Amino acid sequence: MSIVPNLAAETASIQRAEPVGLTSRTAFDEAPMLIYWESTRACDLACVHCRAEAVSWRNPLELDTAEVKNLFDQIASFGSRRPPHMVITGGDPLQREDLFELIDYGRSRGIIISVTPAGTARLTADVVRQLKAAGVFSLGLSLDGSTEERHDTFRGVKGSFAWTAAAAQMASEVEMPVQLNTMVTNETLADLPNIYELVKAWGLERWALFFLISTGRGEALTEISPMESERLHQWLWDIRNEAPFMIKTTEAHHYRRLMYRNLRQRGLSDEAISQMPVGRGFGIRDGSGIVFVSHMGEVYPSGFLPLKAGSVREESLVDIYRSSDLFRSLRNPDLFTGKCGVCEYRYICGGSRARAYASTGDPLGSDPLCPYQPLVSEP
Ligand code: SF4
Repeated sequence: MSIVPNLAAETASIQRAEPVGLTSRTAFDEAPMLIYWESTRACDLACVHCRAEAVSWRNPLELDTAEVKNLFDQIASFGSRRPPHMVITGGDPLQREDLFELIDYGRSRGIIISVTPAGTARLTADVVRQLKAAGVFSLGLSLDGSTEERHDTFRGVKGSFAWTAAAAQMASEVEMPVQLNTMVTNETLADLPNIYELVKAWGLERWALFFLISTGRGEALTEISPMESERLHQWLWDIRNEAPFMIKTTEAHHYRRLMYRNLRQRGLSDEAISQMPVGRGFGIRDGSGIVFVSHMGEVYPSGFLPLKAGSVREESLVDIYRSSDLFRSLRNPDLFTGKCGVCEYRYICGGSRARAYASTGDPLGSDPLCPYQPLVSEP
């Protein structure tokens, strides 16, 4: 039975605003841009908000080495014009003894690989050098506080700030790009300007702000309000020209509305915007350009949207991504309901499907973090 009801017939008569932007609904129908693989849930940290609800031991039912190689083969068979990009996440990928063997194999299949290790004692300078030597494209590090006290409290382990800072410095020395990931919650909001200064001081390449979704352990923290989110987006827009690094938001797609509107006000055409790095990201969201494979091979639209569409142990990732009802629905903004469904920004933004699901139980519902009122009222 389908997870997602067939809404096509009942939504056909709804009046929707003409979508803005040069985005094609079919842009990510054939292949995702980013594939997240949760290599394990084992991790030495005890983060209060952990999406993976990580534990200190590896699950014997995790995908084994041969199964992960098979997953790489499946990814290679997407046959996209772009080389697929896999982000190896966790838990802590450094807990897998076969990590470097798998990186080697994935690269031999033409896959670009990034790794997001946890900031623990395992993340030594030597490990960073080995990751660089193995051809890892970039490193993802998490920093949720601008001081040792703030970050270590958030991550639940003393020393995490220092290990993270040392890894960032070593990555810089070996010229491996770093994306610094920061959770946006009520607890971190006031500290974001200080973290921004650190990203500058450390000379990193990208700052990614993950807007909390209150599920799992994330319920221990609180989401910021829609108006705070709007003010934060305005601040990110204001600093982006002086920031010597890229800034991106995750699960806060409505930042694209603000970017698009500002770029249009500066006189840029839709065509010109679509050629810019920000424009190339328009339309990407859970299940549309993004797919998540769990430590046991289950396939989800993202790590924050806990609706399983299949398992790579039973069928091909390519088939699940292209053909499952859930993924196909998530790629069609004209099936969205509530104000996201009528909004003129639904193709370039579309709202966080994970937050819509967490707050309404419907992955096609509306994202409550966005305060915008579309030109056409929702039915
Ligand atoms: S209403 Fe939905 S689609 Fe429109 S800008 Fe807000 S989050 Fe995006």
